[in-house]
Amino acid sequence: MIITIDGSAGSGKSTAARKLAARLELPYLDTGAMYRAVAYHALKQGVDFDDPEALTALVRRVKLELDCGPTHTRVKIDGRDVSEAIRSNEISRYTSPVARTQPIRDILVEKQRAIGRKLGSLVTEGRDQGSVVFPDADLKFVMEATIDKRAQRRHAELQADGEEVDIAEVRRNLESRDAVDARQWAPLLEPGAAIHIDTSRMTIGQVVDRLMAHIRQMGRGLGDEAK
Ligand code: C5P
Repeated sequence: MIITIDGSAGSGKSTAARKLAARLELPYLDTGAMYRAVAYHALKQGVDFDDPEALTALVRRVKLELDCGPTHTRVKIDGRDVSEAIRSNEISRYTSPVARTQPIRDILVEKQRAIGRKLGSLVTEGRDQGSVVFPDADLKFVMEATIDKRAQRRHAELQADGEEVDIAEVRRNLESRDAVDARQWAPLLEPGAAIHIDTSRMTIGQVVDRLMAHIRQMGRGLGDEAK
């Protein structure tokens, strides 16, 4: 079974996807971590972010390894575990030029499909999982939330990681990433193809319960947890 969860940053999709994967005992794939890892590596290597060819050449060269557990995706680039280092607001900013570069997307999308083929079942989250990467997924969700709520959540996450950053700066970062993401991904998922959930007024527990209810309703329960 493949379950896709797409949505913007701060929509709650990552936490929900992780908790859902844990409940269903399925591997969890965080595809944003792949784009972030590339941005992190490019920054370390001093690659020019205005040069898509140089960025693409870097992606062709590096070894990107993902370990998809039910509660985490750990990511290694050229043997170095960067799972925590890629979470900063600085890396969020550098991820957009990486995500905009189509040849890089082609490489990462192929990697995601290969992971799907290898694992067979998974909960995967990103922007294009239900549309481009796994169009035949069993169940597709799209998560949304207001920009204020998303900025609050992202800000709290960064603070929890020890990063002191102004909430207005976090909000600006989300807005500029939205602009890139909306142009690229919003039109791709046909209306009705996915279940949309507005998480603005929901707790994470309520979101996961809603996802589980849809899984049961589809008659696709997995094991005791889903019954
Ligand atoms: O989900 P997360 O905020 O970690 O994603 C980081 C960035 O990676 C996003 O802003 C988006 O530009 C890009 N991304 C993407 N396609 C995906 C996942 C993430 O373009 N499937």
